[in-house]
Amino acid sequence: MTGHEHNASHEHEHEGRRGDAHPHGRDHEQAHPTPADDCAIPASARSVAEQQGAVLATVAPLPPARVTLDEARGLVLAEDIRSATDIPPFDNSAMDGYAVRRVDVQEASAAAPVSLPVIADLAAGTADNPRIGPGQVARIMTGAPMPDGADAVVPIEDTDRGTDTVTIVRAPVPSAHLRRAGEDVRAGDTVLVAGVRMGPTRLAAAASAGAGTVSAHPAPRVAVISTGSELVPPGQATGRGQIPDSNSFLLAAAVAEAGGVPVRLGSVADDEDALRELLAAQAGLVDAFVLSGGVSVGAYDVVKAVLAPLGTMRFGPVRMQPGKPQGFGRWMPGPDGSPGPVIFALPGNPVSAYVSFEVFVRPALRRMQGHTDLHRPTVTATVADGWTSPSGRAQYMPVTVERDGALTRVRRATSGGSGSHLVAGLGQATGLAIVPEDVTLVAAGDLVTVMLTS
Ligand code: AMP
Ligand code: MG
Repeated sequence: MTGHEHNASHEHEHEGRRGDAHPHGRDHEQAHPTPADDCAIPASARSVAEQQGAVLATVAPLPPARVTLDEARGLVLAEDIRSATDIPPFDNSAMDGYAVRRVDVQEASAAAPVSLPVIADLAAGTADNPRIGPGQVARIMTGAPMPDGADAVVPIEDTDRGTDTVTIVRAPVPSAHLRRAGEDVRAGDTVLVAGVRMGPTRLAAAASAGAGTVSAHPAPRVAVISTGSELVPPGQATGRGQIPDSNSFLLAAAVAEAGGVPVRLGSVADDEDALRELLAAQAGLVDAFVLSGGVSVGAYDVVKAVLAPLGTMRFGPVRMQPGKPQGFGRWMPGPDGSPGPVIFALPGNPVSAYVSFEVFVRPALRRMQGHTDLHRPTVTATVADGWTSPSGRAQYMPVTVERDGALTRVRRATSGGSGSHLVAGLGQATGLAIVPEDVTLVAAGDLVTVMLTS
């Protein structure tokens, strides 16, 4: 197998073929694939790297906003955070026990216990500071400030837990169970640097440092719209010619996993006015649109029909499989002249839409969030089964990634290969094997680069 048939049978994105001249041009291609189909890549076609470069050159981190720590969850910090105080802010007890003067109890042992009067009871949160004189102790709980005069803590386990008088059976070492002010950081020290993602531990660090709000890049709001008159909501009965809309769920979840806020708007029919109205209504509310379907050269390719005339979008083939037809650009500027939301117009086949999201949309959404590390990790893996790949196009093959000791092995996730309509099999994939443009045959035992997607 040359790979040509395989490829041509699953995509229908050949420039120069007029859909209106061939209303069933797609089936036509599927029935009569020719090697020439694969070679029909216009010279203007971009490589994946060129398209990625164009996308990433257009998007920028969203302007930082001051947000509460609740709102900051998962966002990228846009400023350094310095601690307002020493951390801990005051000397305090690391144990539940008794604050003592060590000289008073340094001979204590099980054979020679020492009993002393308890002059205070200090819970966490207390502002009390009773002076501990010679021969005196205070009961103290974890986190309570050490009272003046005391210099060690005897844990409750080394005592009879007395409340009026306590009997101590073991001598503490110097400074035992004492947390010193500033032993974590000093007031003014930098605890977090701009660019980090505010995950659980960073939020805790910011809170400890006294930051009630932080400056962070907002998560991009991303409207997700499927196009296609054949689409019905999942779960609803389908008539002849109808299929469930899977892309809006796929892409909304992908947006969320990429750190964006998805606004899933379901599907619109292949109706130019309907799509135009929906885009216009949402444009002021979102930072980006992710559309699927309608970007090819068919008679009802509504996305291209509505957006190409704006002059702010580029529609054109990218040398990849699946995902060859891509549209990218912006909606019209707002009334104040501010640039419109960026628009990703992805092909409708679910695997094409998914691969396009991974390759172009996810890195862009990460840049908008202020991340500098934009790309999925990759590994080199050994191919368990072989497959063909079209010449002149980088192939993204959905694969399952298996680890076997030191060896990482991949096999095709769908028995039908990279067919861009094979959405159910896509559910098995945990990675995308990347086959370079010039490779046409991937054999068992070959090494491939794999983008890890889960
Ligand atoms: P298009 O890019 O609009 O020509 O669509 C290509 C193929 O993908 C067609 O078979 C569509 O029915 C299918 N398709 C488009 N959008 C969706 C969607 N949202 N969910 C599932 N399949 C879709
Ligand atoms: Mg369509």
